[in-house]
Amino acid sequence: MSAQIGVTGLAVMGANLARNLARNGFTVALHNRSVAKTDALLEKHSGDGEFIRTETLQELVDSLEKPRRVLIMVKAGGPVDSVIDQLVPLLEPGDIVIDGGNSHFQDTRRREAALAKKDLHFVGIGVSGGEEGALNGPSIMPGGSKESYAALGPLLEKISAHVDGKPCCAWIGTDGAGHFVKMVHNGIEYADMQVIGEAFDLLRSGAGIEPAEQAKIFTEWNQTELASFLIEITAEVLGHTDARTGKPFVDVVVDAAGQKGTGRWTVISALELGSPTSGIAESVFARALSSQAAQRAEAQEKLAGHEEKIAVGEGFVDDVRQALFASKLVSYAQGLDMLTGAAKEYSWDLRLDEIAGLWRGGCIIRAELLKDITKAYSAQEEPANLLFAPAFSEAIAGALPAWRRVVATAVQLGIPVPVFSSSLAYYDGLRRKRLPAALTQGLRDLFGAHTYHRVDDDGTFHTLWGEDK
Ligand code: NAP
Repeated sequence: MSAQIGVTGLAVMGANLARNLARNGFTVALHNRSVAKTDALLEKHSGDGEFIRTETLQELVDSLEKPRRVLIMVKAGGPVDSVIDQLVPLLEPGDIVIDGGNSHFQDTRRREAALAKKDLHFVGIGVSGGEEGALNGPSIMPGGSKESYAALGPLLEKISAHVDGKPCCAWIGTDGAGHFVKMVHNGIEYADMQVIGEAFDLLRSGAGIEPAEQAKIFTEWNQTELASFLIEITAEVLGHTDARTGKPFVDVVVDAAGQKGTGRWTVISALELGSPTSGIAESVFARALSSQAAQRAEAQEKLAGHEEKIAVGEGFVDDVRQALFASKLVSYAQGLDMLTGAAKEYSWDLRLDEIAGLWRGGCIIRAELLKDITKAYSAQEEPANLLFAPAFSEAIAGALPAWRRVVATAVQLGIPVPVFSSSLAYYDGLRRKRLPAALTQGLRDLFGAHTYHRVDDDGTFHTLWGEDK
């Protein structure tokens, strides 16, 4: 018996993907650096389907049908290179090496180019949905050559989540495109969680609504245009009572948000691309600020607030809902705009309708909204910015008065709302006919002779400051 795919790296993600493949009828060869993980999987889950136990990479390679498909699910970074280095001498032209970890897209581009020289396919796939998704159907974003997708796609599509009968998996683009799109997905996930946090803070600090009551509000919001996995689990977390103290769970958790790095990568990449991805950037910075415990404690004692003691009105809760939706929409628009910029920079033919479609199931940012986003990008004329699609320009227009009221109230009350407010600033900046960037250009020309363009003439100009009248 030979296996259709081999998996090396059987920690939580690798083990669950291997089980998912086996449950879907594929014979899976198993390998892990330390054999104990392979045996643990076989002991507990051999009933999931056909597995082949291997102890060495040579045995793994020998157990596979050709062209061989080897899925690497080890720790991102150096370990991936180390496994590739060991695998490559054992493989033959046409074989496919797949990295399903959270690798940086530039690493994937480098690895793809190196393996292509040896006539091997290298496919970086973004896998979203955590361990539960890996087992029951993740959202899968594969990069690499189109040829490799022909051999790999059917397996991946079968094990992915499905929405309306469609797999949440589609070929994204060459080399690192899959990992890039997964990275931006994670960036949007950061922004999505931050705007939910801001809404929670506004409802509690602004309107005095306790977590258990908010759980009901979020449950109601999950029946609106906000319907999404993250809103659903927000209701669950806010409704949870700490068993030890009887306090709301959120009150016993240290308020320092962790990060594994994909949000930071998204922002670094946005800066490199010159992409105005302020919502994701503010979300990453908000996590950074949350982790500065010592400075925050000192600031509480030393820095003035001068908050205004205003009472929020009756419609505040609904205003926050609308502001949350508008800010969320801007974060998605910015993330998708970043994909457009990356497609140009890295020569990827990214299909935004397909990308939004495969985020509809299996992944953390799955949301009703993605259905309309998919529709917007399927239109004959793709909008240059998601916000230009009629459905969304109208939705934002409707939410705008509430959004402005909420941001103004937050400022008066001293409640930090970095993504609510920066998204509104982005929206207003985008709409402005003239930006103060003209003054910036003037300053740059004065102090550094950086030159400028004129509104009434072609060419590049420099003013002889102090000499010209
Ligand atoms: P992990 O904790 O990131 O990595 C552990 C696995 O890597 C073990 O199988 C370990 O083997 C192996 N490994 C580490 N260094 C190695 C080396 N030098 N050579 C060979 N094998 C090595 O595992 P994970 O949480 O399952 O994640 C796997 C990948 O998926 C990561 O890139 C992660 O970022 C990504 N991911 C994770 C999640 C999640 O929710 N956990 C979600 C999406 C994506 P030993 O058992 O021998 O130590």
